[in-house]
Amino acid sequence: MMKINKITLFTLYVFVVLVGLLKSPCAVANNQIDGVRVWPSPESTRVVFDLSHKPEYSYFMLKNPYRLVVDFADTKRFPALPDVTDEHRIIKRIRYSKPKDKQGTRVVFDLVRSAKPVVFALAPAGPYKDRLVVDLYGAQMSAYSDESTNKKVSSREKERNIIIAIDAGHGGEDPGSIGPAGTYEKNITLQIAKRLARLIDNEPGMEARLTRTGDYFLKLNTRTVKARERKADFFVSIHADAFSSPEPNGSSVWVLSLRRANSEIGKWLENTEKHSQLLGGAADVIKDTENERYLAKALLDMSMDHSMKTGFKVAEEVVDELRKVSKLHKKEPQAANFGVLKSPDIPSILVETGFISNPNEERMLLSSSHQERLASAIFNAIKSYYWKNPPADSLFASLKNESPIKHQVKPGESLSLLANRYRVSVDSLKRANGLKTDTLFVGQILMIPKA
Ligand SMILES: [Zn+2]
Repeated sequence: MMKINKITLFTLYVFVVLVGLLKSPCAVANNQIDGVRVWPSPESTRVVFDLSHKPEYSYFMLKNPYRLVVDFADTKRFPALPDVTDEHRIIKRIRYSKPKDKQGTRVVFDLVRSAKPVVFALAPAGPYKDRLVVDLYGAQMSAYSDESTNKKVSSREKERNIIIAIDAGHGGEDPGSIGPAGTYEKNITLQIAKRLARLIDNEPGMEARLTRTGDYFLKLNTRTVKARERKADFFVSIHADAFSSPEPNGSSVWVLSLRRANSEIGKWLENTEKHSQLLGGAADVIKDTENERYLAKALLDMSMDHSMKTGFKVAEEVVDELRKVSKLHKKEPQAANFGVLKSPDIPSILVETGFISNPNEERMLLSSSHQERLASAIFNAIKSYYWKNPPADSLFASLKNESPIKHQVKPGESLSLLANRYRVSVDSLKRANGLKTDTLFVGQILMIPKA
């Protein structure tokens, strides 16, 4: 076993950082890299080394040009390193270089620009063996660079779209739960999230923002930060449940717990940067820290109260809609301490779309028609809530206030179709127009009552 007693300082280059050194007393000699996987994402790239044993490693950064060097002690190299494609905005190339000593392996990451490395070992879990994870974060994290959803301009200038942040749970190295047939939760959540985004983007007055658009890993924190930066009105995180036995089934909806919300508020109050985010320009005007804190607390309490109420009401609507398309695991929204549900300022829910550990539900979660039904249920619930409670400056608000709406019946239109389009009940439509039957005539003028 190799002995490393001292951290060697590299002084050869102007900018040399020795960031980490890990020694393990139980590491076995002759470790081996069995595979290398690369997960690109818009803001970071994750490279995972699969190893036969727990790795002994060290790493450092070099400048001109930017490089990250990772040394594996007493480790045989994997014959080939993967090519790095253009979708990586941080790494240009991964290559081997001359190791420190004969037993070691040195891997060099040629970088496109300056990056922050985070390197750590992972113990065997699920389908994976011992791993060394190398995360490279671009120096400037821009949450706006990876929008794949269509940028939609509200059909009218001043009336804004209601923005729904959709978070597909897990991703990349984190598969989430794994079904008995080998289905990864991360793939199901992304498919449902994308279907939901499509439905939202097709709705005038609504706009979707996905926190992730591909198979890569996002930290919990990044998910809510992204939602905030994108000025989301609402945040919905999509997951699939799992249990140790195959029996449990059905969907459930989760909201932020009051306890979690209060502890988050405490954290926000300690963080003056968050004050300015929350207070907007006002923070610069209020020079008095005591006052700023007081105001921040008042605003946070108010916004938390609003988000929790909104989150709960939407959750109730989602449960009602899910009831029509799936079994329910919980008949009421549940409060939870989930890491992703922690924004006191954005109403948030987490939807467990079913149990991937139940063979039957695993099959259903894989089917595109069931995914579409789940996405529609979530979409209908959110739309219904915001149609009833539109933000004052939104297109939804002005559509609702336009009155009275007259509609001339076109071929193929039925009462239920029009009721659905204008979000009124068939009964109120019949009442407003004194209709005794459900029959409509082409060209007939209908008064549309306010929803
Ligand atoms: Zn999950």
